[in-house]
Amino acid sequence: MKKLTLMIALLFISFTLSACGIGEIVDAFNTTRMELEHTEEFGKVTIHYNEDEEQYLELVMEAIHETEQENNRYLSEINHEVQVYLVEEEAFAERFSDDYAGMAYGFFNKIFINTTKEWWEGEFQTHEDYLRNIVAHEYTHYRMMNATNHVLPLWFMEGYAEFIATKVSPSLNEYNSYFAYLIPFQTLEEFDDWDYSGDYFQAGVALQVFMDEQNEGVIQELLEDIDIMDDFYDAFERHYGAGFEDFESAVREELKRLRRGAWDLP
Ligand SMILES: [Zn+2]
Repeated sequence: MKKLTLMIALLFISFTLSACGIGEIVDAFNTTRMELEHTEEFGKVTIHYNEDEEQYLELVMEAIHETEQENNRYLSEINHEVQVYLVEEEAFAERFSDDYAGMAYGFFNKIFINTTKEWWEGEFQTHEDYLRNIVAHEYTHYRMMNATNHVLPLWFMEGYAEFIATKVSPSLNEYNSYFAYLIPFQTLEEFDDWDYSGDYFQAGVALQVFMDEQNEGVIQELLEDIDIMDDFYDAFERHYGAGFEDFESAVREELKRLRRGAWDLP
């Protein structure tokens, strides 16, 4: 069986009507129409699920609550309703892809969680850790998509989701530490270039490196500066306090440091 690595996706349908054609909106509308047996409302969060997924409700709501608190530290609070679909592996693969653990559609404020038990081994200690991480990742996409109208570089979107998700439920460092080389950030701008191996990890490390020197308000300030400066990288460099090449070097050093940690393992 093909070795599956953790793959989490988001769809850029979320941003502006001008960023994608009306055909894609219609496609996404059809893709995100899903009828499951039950729905349960928890304030602004509605969970859709079938009988088999009922066992995860409490865990999912706990993860969402923690993720909300974390996001409130970095982003302005919002009060949109959000629909969360808990979908077993086969139905998820049929509707989306068997490559993904979750999907976030910002335009519709819907997130879909693949409740599979097969992918997490090697990356999480338990299935619960896996689910909490995926819920936190996708819910964070929903928060970020509602915080800006700009199409952000994919590494920043995914890095922020990883940054928050690993606070809610860390993945196993042994697995991630293999990815110690630097992937040029210019190849991590869009979905087409994403190769799903070390990319999520590097993106998460990049956000950690950025945040290490910053206060919590920097993410919201950065989003506001992108509006004013109309360029992500100009705004990013301003808040990082150095050029982007220096940032890449700092990320490379951090990846090397993490690899040394891995080699110290017995
Ligand atoms: Zn993602």
